[in-house]
Amino acid sequence: MTDIKNKPVVKLISKPENMLRTIYTACRTCYSSDSPINIYDKNTDEEKMLKLISRVISSGHYSTIEHIQVTFAISNVSRACTHQLVRHRHMSFSQKSQRYVKEKGQFDYLTPPTIEKNKELKEKYDEFMKKVADFYTEMTEQGIPAEDARFILPNATSSSMVASLNLREMIHLANIRLCTRAQDEIRLLVRLMCNKLTNEEPWLKPYLVPKCERLGFCDEDKSCGRMATRAV
Ligand SMILES: Cc1cc2nc3c(=O)[nH]c(=O)nc-3n(C[C@H](O)[C@H](O)[C@H](O)COP(=O)(O)OP(=O)(O)OC[C@H]3O[C@@H](n4cnc5c(N)ncnc54)[C@H](O)[C@@H]3O)c2cc1C
Repeated sequence: MTDIKNKPVVKLISKPENMLRTIYTACRTCYSSDSPINIYDKNTDEEKMLKLISRVISSGHYSTIEHIQVTFAISNVSRACTHQLVRHRHMSFSQKSQRYVKEKGQFDYLTPPTIEKNKELKEKYDEFMKKVADFYTEMTEQGIPAEDARFILPNATSSSMVASLNLREMIHLANIRLCTRAQDEIRLLVRLMCNKLTNEEPWLKPYLVPKCERLGFCDEDKSCGRMATRAV
């Protein structure tokens, strides 16, 4: 399997055009006698908007960023990875179904780098996947529905999904899944999601970081070394 095949493929397919102005309008409305329509139409300069937004976010007034919804098209991720992602309750998902989409021949699967670089184990890993694919095909050819044959498909099976979330959840997702305690594949996936978003909205960079960078300390039992744990 090539390196590229082992990486999530991510595209930001939807985000509001006026993200900053929308959040600014939400923030400013809380403290202004002016109407939200006037605030929005004034087209305030970026520096002023960012100053207020930064103050509002650091004071924990997060409802103001819930107005922003972003959507990602994601493919080439393992079921192990998507199982972790779907634990995030403020996200919305549409995932490739293993009931309606029957695997044909060798199904696509991901290989963790630790296995990839061990030649002997990698061979056994691939043999195992072939056996699973052969048995899956044998079952479906004998009339077992895909929804039942899928019981033997491993966590490594490749999946794809469309995932949407608001900016509050995006920041939370980044904060906990970019932490080195998160598993490699989901960390990489979330890194790619953050990169796609900050490419278009660079002002978000200080927020889409591991939680220690926002807290100023590591709240895990053991630090990876990036930040010291909180003094008790
Ligand atoms: C390093 C790591 C290891 C993990 N290990 C395990 C594991 O071994 N086993 C396991 O089962 N899971 C594990 N998880 C998953 C974890 O427990 C969470 O289910 C997952 O990270 C979603 O996080 P969340 O609940 O903070 O976020 P979301 O579901 O995205 O929710 C965001 C925030 O909304 C609030 N919220 C959401 N729902 C509620 C609610 N019902 N009540 C109150 N507040 C709510 C909370 O403040 C929450 O932080 C692990 C996660 C990480 C990052």
